Amino acid sequence: MTSYSGEPSIVAAHHVGANPWQTALTQLDAVAERLNLDPGIHRILRHTKRELTVSIPVRRDDGRIDVFTGFRVQHNINRGPAKGGIRYHPGVTLDEVRALAMLMTWKCAVARLPFGGAKGAVVCDTHALSLPELERLTRRYATEISILIGPESDIPAPDMYTNAQVMAWIMDTYSMQQGYSVPAVVTGKPLSIGGSEGRVEAPGRGVFYTIRDAAAHIGLDLAGARVVVQGFGALGSVAARLLADAGCRIIAVSDSRGGVYNDHGLDVRRLLRHKQEHGTVGDFAASEAIGHDELLRLPCEVLLPAALGNQINERNAAEVRARIVAEGANGPLTMAADAILDEGGVLVIPDIIANAGGVIVSYFEWVQGLQENFWTEDEVNTRLESMIRSSFGEALTRAQDGRVSLRTAAYELAVGRVAEATTVRGLFP
Ligand code: NAD
Repeated sequence: MTSYSGEPSIVAAHHVGANPWQTALTQLDAVAERLNLDPGIHRILRHTKRELTVSIPVRRDDGRIDVFTGFRVQHNINRGPAKGGIRYHPGVTLDEVRALAMLMTWKCAVARLPFGGAKGAVVCDTHALSLPELERLTRRYATEISILIGPESDIPAPDMYTNAQVMAWIMDTYSMQQGYSVPAVVTGKPLSIGGSEGRVEAPGRGVFYTIRDAAAHIGLDLAGARVVVQGFGALGSVAARLLADAGCRIIAVSDSRGGVYNDHGLDVRRLLRHKQEHGTVGDFAASEAIGHDELLRLPCEVLLPAALGNQINERNAAEVRARIVAEGANGPLTMAADAILDEGGVLVIPDIIANAGGVIVSYFEWVQGLQENFWTEDEVNTRLESMIRSSFGEALTRAQDGRVSLRTAAYELAVGRVAEATTVRGLFP
């Protein structure tokens, strides 16, 4: 089995209790050192390009006015327009948005997308807002950040607690201000207004392609390989279905309300129907219940954490008995867990490669919108497969050549590309 130990610490993006921006900077500093980056370029990359904080007054349904706070941060736009999601969350902070914007810069660069990185957020609890309140909040936020966003400058997408409807409102608000329709100002839109075929499945499909290539690399036959999936949402359920179709045995699956296990393999399509009917995978026929911690300790060939961050940490990492861990979720491994798995010879496919399918098909949606020329689902999937596989392949080659982990290799590629663009453009004025 591949072992990548003995390298300087390039770490997982999120870990318990740490300030996310400090963690992102620490990660950048380690890569800069490995790449022997010019100190001036390194200094530029340690700063975000622009940060906008806005007040969002919203008239509530009962007539009173509440004021929410929103952010839009662009980390770096040297390789192209800024790209990144918008998150609605009561606990979101400016430092978190900065870190996520930087992560987008690296994610786009490693996939060779002609984008820089950005992220936006509104500090709010969507469960405490009615639909009309959510629309008013979204339209006012879109107006406040309209000095930054645009199809050639900064293109938002959905993130936690935002969706295709929120993107439609942003697209409409921006279009009303321009006086004509501008579909390419956001991605993740509904199909009826220029969304892309294949966008919904893209993150799970991308994870599947990277697992398939990782398995081939370590000589693992997917036929009969045991797979454990934590999180059965948009990403986890699609990846599980494609892995099952490729011959894998999906032996355990969990969601926030329960977990199910069957060593002979679960019928993923029936499990999907069960979840649609009952709201959880729990109590699925021909399976036994399994606890959250126990699921992560199951002997398997592939472990796919596809729920939350920090799920595999210093407490449980040593007990993971998988050959491949694919980071479907963003930051499911803590720094400590990453080191433990690496030492144990587990091949970790880092989030910036494994779950890049979403932003890759967002790029396709943007291109289709600009050209007013729409592709079939097959075209989208074929191009996605080609892009994510070449990104994985480039990182793997670099990892082998440098005897470093895939995560370190991916960060080296990403930071190197952004540094090169920054250098060749030169410093203005
Ligand atoms: P989702 O909301 O559709 O699904 C999340 C799933 O995780 C749900 O099934 C939920 O029940 C489950 N879950 C929550 N807490 C859990 C717990 N403690 N134990 C087990 N399961 C739990 O979200 P998604 O779009 O599938 O995203 C999953 C992860 O993938 C997130 O980390 C997200 O940031 C990341 N991601 C998603 C996309 C995308 O476009 N969908 C792209 C890149 C990365």
